[in-house]
Amino acid sequence: MRCINCRQEIFSEEYLCADCQKEISLIIDGNYCAHCGRVTKAKETYCLTCKNFMVETDLCRSAFDYTKTAKLIKKLKYDGAKWLAEFFAKNMAKVYIKEELFADFITFVPMTEKKQKKRKFNQTELLANSISTIINLPVVTVIEKIKETPAQAGLKRKDRLENLTGAFKVIDKQAVLGKTVLLIDDVLTTGATAESVAKKLKKSGAKKVILLTACSAPDIYVKGE
Ligand SMILES: [Zn+2]
Ligand SMILES: [Zn+2]
Repeated sequence: MRCINCRQEIFSEEYLCADCQKEISLIIDGNYCAHCGRVTKAKETYCLTCKNFMVETDLCRSAFDYTKTAKLIKKLKYDGAKWLAEFFAKNMAKVYIKEELFADFITFVPMTEKKQKKRKFNQTELLANSISTIINLPVVTVIEKIKETPAQAGLKRKDRLENLTGAFKVIDKQAVLGKTVLLIDDVLTTGATAESVAKKLKKSGAKKVILLTACSAPDIYVKGE
């Protein structure tokens, strides 16, 4: 076995070597924003990012800090290292259980059909399916992405939100009505995507939307107002 992060040889069934385990620890074991789950300097305070912004998403939690796991998440997304989904899912499931995030079903942030054909898989769907097996909660596909959005990186939050107008559509309103939905995404940055999807789910009668991501950018890295 080799450590998935530094490739050093390890003699256990773990994904990470002892050094990387220390480096890549669960956010919930340290200080994080009580609402959006990002790394913060002090525990149980609200970060500046979500205080005035994340209004549709009731609660967010992430397994890891993006600054520590960027390499691994990029490998999963762009190099097709699908096996890494299992590593992230295992830790996301840990957070779900430890934080008692009870939901009625799991869903994931979709890609447009065109983009998924090109990439051949949707990493958020892989994460959702893998978590589903661990926590024994069904995955229901209730959202479709109907409009391609330009790359969000480098854009301000306001522009990101504008980009996403009309991008998502709820395709199974019956399944959503009165339910608590566990929404899976890979990375939480400004939260514009999650807010956009959560807004649609709430409009379709969802009681609560809980966002669970593989990693999140710490508060200080989120730019733009
Ligand atoms: Zn390592
Ligand atoms: Zn926050």
